[in-house]
Amino acid sequence: MKFNPADKIQDLQYFGEFGGVNPSISDSSTYTFLHAKTMMDTFEGNAEGCYLYSRHSSPSNLNLGEALAAMEGTETANVAASGMGAITPTLMQLCNAGDHIVSSRTIYGGSYAFLKNFAPKFGITASFVDITKNEAVENAITKNTKVIYCEAVSNPLLEIADIRELSKIAKKHNLTLVVDNTFSPLSISPKLLGADIVIHSLTKFINGSSDTVGGVMCGTQDFINSLRSVIDGASMLLGPVMDSIRSASVLKNLRTLHIRIKKHSENAMYLAEKFEKDGIKMIYPGLTSHPQHELYKTMYNEEYGFGGMLAFDVGNLQKADELMELMQSRGLGYLAVSLGFYKTLFNAPGTGTSSEIPLDEQKIMGLSDGLIRFSIGLDNDINRTYIEMKKCMLELGIL
Ligand code: PLP
Repeated sequence: MKFNPADKIQDLQYFGEFGGVNPSISDSSTYTFLHAKTMMDTFEGNAEGCYLYSRHSSPSNLNLGEALAAMEGTETANVAASGMGAITPTLMQLCNAGDHIVSSRTIYGGSYAFLKNFAPKFGITASFVDITKNEAVENAITKNTKVIYCEAVSNPLLEIADIRELSKIAKKHNLTLVVDNTFSPLSISPKLLGADIVIHSLTKFINGSSDTVGGVMCGTQDFINSLRSVIDGASMLLGPVMDSIRSASVLKNLRTLHIRIKKHSENAMYLAEKFEKDGIKMIYPGLTSHPQHELYKTMYNEEYGFGGMLAFDVGNLQKADELMELMQSRGLGYLAVSLGFYKTLFNAPGTGTSSEIPLDEQKIMGLSDGLIRFSIGLDNDINRTYIEMKKCMLELGIL
């Protein structure tokens, strides 16, 4: 039977301590033991069902991790305090001083800044390549390369990584393929396409209510155990742990993700098609004009569509700013970073979420300052939104 990530979430059943339909929240940072020997065994990772200290693991975080692992089809997962709190320990666990990472050049600005400016402090270097060119990825591999890093759908240019092909390259060179799937939960299942580790910023679509930051790394039990090792585990030792109360609330939101993603995708597709017909050069993977549209179709779980993110260029930063301010004043959304909210969010990534990337490099990757990135909301009547957005564009001479 075909893998359906939402069914995997749905199939999980939890019973709270008093028979509640939600698992009880474990509101403790530390846990008692009746016998000192069991504490020792827990330290060594040999006491099934026992908890030691919540930076290592907690029942609430394990519940959320189990659901996210089910969604991604991995053995297990480790929940983190933010998306960056999942990305940075993953890469630091996989690499030692002297190691090298081949990364997509169009990734979230924070991930880019980590690889470019921070990881070198620990002797880890990265080369940035056009991830849509498999031969560029292979050519960048050196004898020190340990990881290929990319986003399934890239931030902010919405380039699509060919995960099957990247996985073949990774296997051939004995590398770990790490895929950030933040932009395409449910739509794309990277593990099933060959990724070794799948990461999400839970802050975005998965939580969906823009009220917390969170992250997860999904992978093998061995890898997750290594992250949690009290001796040399990056998650355990760097400590980006999510609070149990937050992870319980993210788990509740996860249950409606399939309904939200379908609506985000439907609304984004509607606007992309309408504005493309109006003559705007749209960037949206659901359009046949998108360079990787056919590739996306070979990878996606069709019912979840092409996602809620779209982008278009209005020519220059001044026009982008004017349009965003006008749309906000008309209640069409918020001029804000982040994504996956019920209201549309928009920002100009050149000066916002990708400002960590130097201007000359933005140019090379095709990120111009007039580009506006949209996370399309759950608008009930998207045609009404389209009419109002179009009015704004006409008023500013964009259309
Ligand atoms: N990955 C992607 C694709 C993102 O867009 C972001 C944040 O914008 C992150 C990772 C980082 O996540 P967080 O802000 O939760 O640390």
